Amino acid sequence: MDLYEYQGKELFRRFGIPVSEGRLATTPEEAEAAAQELDGQVVVKAQVLTGGRGKAGGVKLADDPLDAEAKAGDILGLDIRGHVVRKVWVEQASDIAKEYYLSLTFDRGEKKPLYMLTTEGGVDIEEVAATKPEALARLHVDPLEGFQPWQARRLIYGAGIEDPSEQKQILAIIGRLYDCFVSSDALLCEINPLIVTPDGEVKALDSKVTVDDNALYKHQDIADMRDPEAYPPEERAAREKGVTYVKLDGEVGILGNGAGLVMSTLDVIALAGGRPANFCDLGGGGDAQGVVDALEVITADPQVRAIFFNIFGGITRGDEVARGILQALGQMTIEHPIVVRLDGTNAEEGRRLLAEAAPANLHVEPTMLDAARRAVELAR
Ligand code: GDP
Ligand code: MN
Repeated sequence: MDLYEYQGKELFRRFGIPVSEGRLATTPEEAEAAAQELDGQVVVKAQVLTGGRGKAGGVKLADDPLDAEAKAGDILGLDIRGHVVRKVWVEQASDIAKEYYLSLTFDRGEKKPLYMLTTEGGVDIEEVAATKPEALARLHVDPLEGFQPWQARRLIYGAGIEDPSEQKQILAIIGRLYDCFVSSDALLCEINPLIVTPDGEVKALDSKVTVDDNALYKHQDIADMRDPEAYPPEERAAREKGVTYVKLDGEVGILGNGAGLVMSTLDVIALAGGRPANFCDLGGGGDAQGVVDALEVITADPQVRAIFFNIFGGITRGDEVARGILQALGQMTIEHPIVVRLDGTNAEEGRRLLAEAAPANLHVEPTMLDAARRAVELAR
């Protein structure tokens, strides 16, 4: 789960990482009132779950409350790479002398958290990594030993930060970022830019925090930060129904049982010359309610032109799945063509049940490849 900048900053604040004071606003009037309360120059920032807001015109300085109102009016409603701005964060503006970059992420290859620090902040970190790799100090933390203060010093020297006051402040921030990362079960905590003001004060001017979805049950406060409006309706429905759903951008909706089978189904659709619109994993079950839930989610995606049901009966028997499908189709009306491939335990009985009772838009194919070809053809 990705957090908005203002939510990430709230986490940072809790862990003692310095951030500026600010207010959330959903209308230009609220932005004006926020600027009034904050007093002085403010920065109005689009709150969207994507980066590069500055370049897209989503971050603007405002000299007074009326200016803040006008800037909020410019930014609210803006489309930043497909994300429409519905909230702005109005924050006390900072003077910037230097822009650094600090992040802590999970390095899956090394199975360890990885720090990255560079004085070349503000811009895309990928660009720094590509053009000036020597400027990027990197350091892994052994998760069993935990973070050690000497590691922060090594990072700071590695990045070439020489001012003793900056060193001291960044040392503290590096340690607190580790606490924040571990305590929140984060996968990423990024500060870009980490600024130094002309007075020598170091603070986080931006935040990018991703928390592990699988750990949200431990963090009700963070789970509550999820903004349902930031997701398309079918993703919302999937989460509510507990359906495993992934959105893709083709035209064949895919339903399978088990992650492995679903993955190969995506490949077979590609082999047949089509593109998956999304996929749902029914898991071990194939009961009618599970099928109804998955079909509701899949058909809510406007890109779906045909549905491919790929089921292998293992513990779940083919006849049960067939009954589930028929029961589901009895409960809901589906206009899309549906292609079913059923194999494994009691598959023959399942196919017979479908052939006897299925509506005209349901097609049963004997093999996975035949079914994929049919689904791709029907999606044209
Ligand atoms: P991003 O573009 O989505 O990464 O958004 P950021 O929060 O990083 O803001 C983009 C840029 O706006 C920063 O790199 C700063 O240069 C600038 N900026 C943001 N806040 C302030 C501020 O308080 N004062 C000044 N002078 N510039 C700011
Ligand atoms: Mn940034």
